[in-house]
Amino acid sequence: MNSAEYKVICPYCGKTAEYVDSKEIYGISYGMIYLCRTCCAYVGCHRGSKRPLGQLADADTRKWRHRAHSCFDWLWRKRYFSRGSAYRWLAEQMGLDVKLTHIGMFDVEQCKKVIDVSRKYLIDINKQLKKHGGIYERNRTAKN
Ligand SMILES: [Zn+2]
Repeated sequence: MNSAEYKVICPYCGKTAEYVDSKEIYGISYGMIYLCRTCCAYVGCHRGSKRPLGQLADADTRKWRHRAHSCFDWLWRKRYFSRGSAYRWLAEQMGLDVKLTHIGMFDVEQCKKVIDVSRKYLIDINKQLKKHGGIYERNRTAKN
Protein backbone atom coordinates (compact mmCIF):
# COMPACT_ATOMS: atom_id res chain seq x y z
CA MET A 1 0.00 0.00 0.00
CA ASN A 2 1.34 3.45 -0.79
CA SER A 3 1.43 6.07 1.92
CA ALA A 4 -1.15 8.34 0.33
CA GLU A 5 -1.67 11.66 2.06
CA TYR A 6 -5.15 12.70 3.04
CA LYS A 7 -6.41 16.21 3.52
CA VAL A 8 -8.98 15.92 6.26
CA ILE A 9 -11.20 18.93 6.88
CA CYS A 10 -12.88 19.54 10.22
CA PRO A 11 -16.65 19.64 9.53
CA TYR A 12 -17.20 22.05 12.44
CA CYS A 13 -14.74 24.85 11.67
CA GLY A 14 -13.49 24.04 8.15
CA LYS A 15 -9.81 23.91 9.12
CA THR A 16 -7.46 21.16 8.02
CA ALA A 17 -7.03 18.54 10.73
CA GLU A 18 -3.54 17.60 11.93
CA TYR A 19 -2.25 14.07 11.60
CA VAL A 20 -0.98 13.30 15.11
CA ASP A 21 -0.39 10.43 17.50
CA SER A 22 -3.50 9.52 19.53
CA LYS A 23 -1.52 9.85 22.75
CA GLU A 24 -2.23 13.58 22.45
CA ILE A 25 -5.84 12.71 23.29
CA TYR A 26 -5.65 9.51 25.29
CA GLY A 27 -2.27 9.84 26.98
CA ILE A 28 -1.44 6.42 25.50
CA SER A 29 -0.76 5.77 21.82
CA TYR A 30 -3.45 3.81 19.97
CA GLY A 31 -2.13 4.80 16.57
CA MET A 32 -2.50 7.93 14.51
CA ILE A 33 -5.53 10.21 14.37
CA TYR A 34 -6.67 13.36 12.59
CA LEU A 35 -7.23 16.07 15.15
CA CYS A 36 -8.74 19.55 15.05
CA ARG A 37 -7.34 21.37 18.06
CA THR A 38 -9.90 24.14 17.77
CA CYS A 39 -12.91 21.85 18.16
CA CYS A 40 -11.35 18.86 19.92
CA ALA A 41 -12.79 16.80 17.09
CA TYR A 42 -10.94 13.73 15.91
CA VAL A 43 -11.10 10.49 13.98
CA GLY A 44 -8.88 7.40 13.82
CA CYS A 45 -7.31 5.80 10.77
CA HIS A 46 -7.75 2.49 9.04
CA ARG A 47 -5.20 0.00 10.29
CA GLY A 48 -1.88 0.33 8.52
CA SER A 49 -2.88 3.37 6.47
CA LYS A 50 -3.38 7.10 6.73
CA ARG A 51 -6.95 6.78 5.49
CA PRO A 52 -9.35 8.33 8.03
CA LEU A 53 -12.17 6.12 9.35
CA GLY A 54 -14.71 8.78 8.56
CA GLN A 55 -15.46 12.38 9.42
CA LEU A 56 -13.93 14.05 12.45
CA ALA A 57 -16.33 13.88 15.37
CA ASP A 58 -16.74 16.26 18.27
CA ALA A 59 -17.53 15.10 21.81
CA ASP A 60 -21.30 15.18 21.33
CA THR A 61 -21.18 13.12 18.13
CA ARG A 62 -18.78 10.62 19.71
CA LYS A 63 -21.17 10.19 22.62
CA TRP A 64 -24.12 9.52 20.30
CA ARG A 65 -22.15 7.13 18.10
CA HIS A 66 -21.17 5.20 21.18
CA ARG A 67 -24.80 4.95 22.27
CA ALA A 68 -25.95 3.96 18.79
CA HIS A 69 -23.30 1.25 18.63
CA SER A 70 -24.22 -0.19 22.02
CA CYS A 71 -27.85 -0.36 21.01
CA PHE A 72 -27.35 -1.77 17.52
CA ASP A 73 -24.57 -4.22 18.44
CA TRP A 74 -26.99 -5.79 20.89
CA LEU A 75 -29.02 -7.07 17.94
CA TRP A 76 -26.25 -9.23 16.53
CA ARG A 77 -24.39 -9.95 19.77
CA LYS A 78 -27.62 -11.49 21.07
CA ARG A 79 -27.82 -13.39 17.76
CA TYR A 80 -31.14 -11.95 16.70
CA PHE A 81 -29.23 -11.34 13.46
CA SER A 82 -25.89 -12.34 12.03
CA ARG A 83 -23.60 -9.33 11.95
CA GLY A 84 -23.88 -9.05 8.16
CA SER A 85 -27.65 -9.24 8.06
CA ALA A 86 -27.88 -6.79 10.95
CA TYR A 87 -25.99 -4.23 8.85
CA ARG A 88 -28.19 -4.95 5.83
CA TRP A 89 -31.26 -4.47 7.98
CA LEU A 90 -29.86 -1.21 9.38
CA ALA A 91 -29.04 0.06 5.88
CA GLU A 92 -32.64 -0.54 4.90
CA GLN A 93 -33.94 1.27 8.00
CA MET A 94 -31.63 4.23 7.34
CA GLY A 95 -32.36 4.34 3.62
CA LEU A 96 -28.63 4.00 2.89
CA ASP A 97 -26.46 1.77 0.80
CA VAL A 98 -24.99 -0.93 3.05
CA LYS A 99 -21.50 0.25 2.04
CA LEU A 100 -22.32 3.63 3.60
CA THR A 101 -23.84 2.16 6.73
CA HIS A 102 -21.14 2.78 9.30
CA ILE A 103 -22.14 4.24 12.64
CA GLY A 104 -18.65 5.75 12.80
CA MET A 105 -19.69 8.03 9.94
CA PHE A 106 -23.15 8.94 11.22
CA ASP A 107 -24.11 12.35 12.54
CA VAL A 108 -26.11 12.85 15.74
CA GLU A 109 -29.51 12.65 14.02
CA GLN A 110 -28.60 9.42 12.28
CA CYS A 111 -27.34 7.96 15.57
CA LYS A 112 -30.64 8.79 17.23
CA LYS A 113 -32.43 6.99 14.43
CA VAL A 114 -30.21 3.91 14.90
CA ILE A 115 -31.15 3.81 18.59
CA ASP A 116 -34.80 4.28 17.76
CA VAL A 117 -35.06 1.51 15.15
CA SER A 118 -32.90 -0.90 17.17
CA ARG A 119 -35.06 -0.44 20.28
CA LYS A 120 -38.26 -0.93 18.29
CA TYR A 121 -36.82 -4.10 16.83
CA LEU A 122 -35.86 -5.43 20.27
CA ILE A 123 -39.29 -4.68 21.70
CA ASP A 124 -40.90 -6.44 18.74
CA ILE A 125 -38.71 -9.51 18.83
CA ASN A 126 -39.13 -9.88 22.57
CA LYS A 127 -42.90 -9.83 22.17
CA GLN A 128 -42.67 -12.54 19.53
CA LEU A 129 -40.27 -14.63 21.61
CA LYS A 130 -42.59 -14.43 24.58
CA LYS A 131 -45.37 -15.76 22.40
CA HIS A 132 -43.20 -18.67 21.22
CA GLY A 133 -41.74 -19.71 24.55
CA GLY A 134 -38.89 -17.26 25.07
CA ILE A 135 -35.18 -17.50 24.39
CA TYR A 136 -34.38 -20.19 26.98
CA GLU A 137 -33.31 -22.68 24.27
CA ARG A 138 -30.62 -20.34 23.00
CA ASN A 139 -29.44 -19.52 26.51
CA ARG A 140 -29.26 -23.17 27.47
CA THR A 141 -27.13 -24.07 24.42
CA ALA A 142 -24.89 -21.07 24.98
CA LYS A 143 -24.03 -22.27 28.50
CA ASN A 144 -23.00 -25.80 27.43
ZN1 LIG B 1 -12.53 22.23 13.93
